[in-house]
Amino acid sequence: MSPLKLVAAGVTDVGRVREGNEDGFLDESLRLGVVAVADGMGGHRAGEVASATALESLRAAIADGRPLRDAIVDANDAVLEKSVSDQQLRGMGTTLTAGTLGTDGNLVIGHVGDSRAYLFHDGELTQITDDHSLVEEMVRTGELTPEQAESHPQRSIITRALGIDPEVEVDVYPVQLGVGDRVLLCSDGLTTMVRSEDIAGILEREPDPERAAQLLVDAANAAGGEDNITAVVVEAVEDETALAAEPEAVEDDTSELAPRRKRRRRGRGRTMLRVLLWVLPVLAVLALAFGAVGWYARRTYFVGADNSRVTIFKGRPGGVLGWDPTVEKHSAIETSELTANELDDVKSKKTFSSRSGADDYVRRLRTTVQKRQEQTTTTTVPPTAAPPAPAPVP
Ligand code: MG
Repeated sequence: MSPLKLVAAGVTDVGRVREGNEDGFLDESLRLGVVAVADGMGGHRAGEVASATALESLRAAIADGRPLRDAIVDANDAVLEKSVSDQQLRGMGTTLTAGTLGTDGNLVIGHVGDSRAYLFHDGELTQITDDHSLVEEMVRTGELTPEQAESHPQRSIITRALGIDPEVEVDVYPVQLGVGDRVLLCSDGLTTMVRSEDIAGILEREPDPERAAQLLVDAANAAGGEDNITAVVVEAVEDETALAAEPEAVEDDTSELAPRRKRRRRGRGRTMLRVLLWVLPVLAVLALAFGAVGWYARRTYFVGADNSRVTIFKGRPGGVLGWDPTVEKHSAIETSELTANELDDVKSKKTFSSRSGADDYVRRLRTTVQKRQEQTTTTTVPPTAAPPAPAPVP
């Protein structure tokens, strides 16, 4: 498996109704392999302080090598500590949905509250996290349908948050990512305003993570922007630098956390060597197989039509496993000069095992066409020789 890295971009916006933005996000995808979204609450500036405190604490804990779950517990402690030590911040809290990525594509999502993580894989959007909200619990117990929950007046009441209680239960979801997979972290200001089909449509259409995040925020604002809106779009891409040289970029770490840890570095050189020893023969076999398919695909010629001309192609009609046929030679024969039978013959794309076979076929066809044209010109009276039409007699 090739090493992966996260490419991420986030956008946060106050929306169109609220006065301040209590949302925040963390994008340390390049340096620490961690991203997060936090939605603070508490009124005045307390909500802003809660989300910012949680994100900064998370960042510091991950940088110290703490596993994600522990890092989120640390963030809970940090917000609670600030809350009890400052009268103006009393009662503040925040959601936190965070992701860490290992170089093997193992993403771990840690989650408290009603911000969400989604996986976008193969054009399909799947919600990874369960909301810790009143309405979501009512949906789980069957008291509400998901449709009723969407418009329920109490849909913003959450049942779990950071900074409220010394104990916090963190949900952890492992997700295996492949190249091109996307993960969306977002606050409820996006998901209460924009339907999931529309979110999926934007992630499908816009390849650039930053523009995709901006388009999601724009869509929430267009729908009313009733809350602060935050979207972080994360994409798993191949990490060529890790493949090429840097043995330390490969983790020998099967725990839930993946960012770099200084104290674990000794094992990594060996891991890279093991990976290379395993990968190189596989690559060699694949290259041989690919070459063999290419040889098979490219040793054939066929005659077809291109730009209304009878044309010799190299390759097999329709191509084989990515080896597409290429134009070898355009002949002087226009397809309009062919009879219906000859045209059918050309359209059936006759194949030949050598170039000379294809050349012979085209030569015979040209001879037939020329003979036919000579006959036509000798038996038909040229229009210029025709006598002028008699003038109509009144
Ligand atoms: Mg919100």
